[in-house]
Amino acid sequence: MPRFDLAILARRQRNVRRSSIVLRDIVPPAVLATDLYRAVYKPVVEAWISALPRIEAEYARTIGEMTTDSAADVKAEIDTAAGEVNRLVLMLTPALREWALRVEQWQRGKWRGAVLSATGVDLQTMLGPEDVRASLETTIQWNAALVADVSDQVRQRISAAVFDGLTNRTPAREVAKTIREKTGMGRDRSVRIASDQLTKLTSALADERRREAGIDTWKWRSSHKLHYRPEHAARDGKDYTDATAPQDLPGRLPYCGCRSQAVVAFD
Ligand SMILES: [Zn+2]
Repeated sequence: MPRFDLAILARRQRNVRRSSIVLRDIVPPAVLATDLYRAVYKPVVEAWISALPRIEAEYARTIGEMTTDSAADVKAEIDTAAGEVNRLVLMLTPALREWALRVEQWQRGKWRGAVLSATGVDLQTMLGPEDVRASLETTIQWNAALVADVSDQVRQRISAAVFDGLTNRTPAREVAKTIREKTGMGRDRSVRIASDQLTKLTSALADERRREAGIDTWKWRSSHKLHYRPEHAARDGKDYTDATAPQDLPGRLPYCGCRSQAVVAFD
């Protein structure tokens, strides 16, 4: 919902002759994605890595003895590790919150700067994190679920490799190599998720700040990323309103790096 009308404020500030002003593109820096990965996802991946020697040792012992119920001991070792990681996941919410607030503060500063340089209007006293609290909460909850899912997927892959190994009497060394690879996949997935989550949060914040300022129109900015969507690239530079926008808004589909640029229209 609009809280103020930037076009009116801009007119009061300056004698605007143009029919519209495009606010500058706000590009989130990769370091903010790295921060999310380091603060939240990396500790979970590392907790699994630190549990691997115990799982590997139990596997080696089991494959050496191969008594009837010995598979239960490896399973117990994996369950213990999963329990420890799950407790860690539950403690990560404050770190997630801190990250989300940091991104919000960064985005708000950039938005204020873009508005100031384009219109001469300083929004500093008019903007606060409370305006976008719902988006921040959604991001926090969603990432808590995502990091739990990353951990669960790592657990499933380790379990599958271990029980496959027991069935096929695979040497311990080979199984150890496999479960390290599976854990590495969890790390790679986490890096991609962190990057995507930064885009999603900054896209949501950009939309909210624009609507709050009473701005309907925005310009599509294609990511020009390596694996960009051709239909998104075709929208580059085109103007949309919330009414005319396609369903897949910039930055919302998985790994979409597109952005929207607010356009202040004077009528
Ligand atoms: Zn895109």
